[in-house]
Amino acid sequence: MMSGIRGSNTSPELAVRKHLHAAGFRYRLHVPSLPGRPDIVLPRLKSVVLVHGCFWHRHEQCKYAYIPKSNVSFWAKKFEANVKRDKLVRNQLKKAGWRIHVIWECEVHERGLAQIVRNLKEK
Ligand SMILES: [Zn+2]
Repeated sequence: MMSGIRGSNTSPELAVRKHLHAAGFRYRLHVPSLPGRPDIVLPRLKSVVLVHGCFWHRHEQCKYAYIPKSNVSFWAKKFEANVKRDKLVRNQLKKAGWRIHVIWECEVHERGLAQIVRNLKEK
């Protein structure tokens, strides 16, 4: 349902993958057996990294999470569904014992990537 709009292998995701790989992390991608088919899964750390597009996933207070001027109710419904789904997926992952690291599209720069690495290393 979501794959058409969200897409995999987007460039922010690729940037995160490259960075994690260079930092020595090994991961699996889009693991279908986990809730929400998380983008990046680090089985040894029991962690998942979700690379969220600010627009689709509604990054709060973010300039990229604007609301289009036309078809307002269409977008409102769509965004509400996305946010609800993200929440559900996070809860399911948490219940299954996974640590969740979200990196927003607008945070995929040197400082944000360094922060994700720090978060992953911390036990
Ligand atoms: Zn953002």
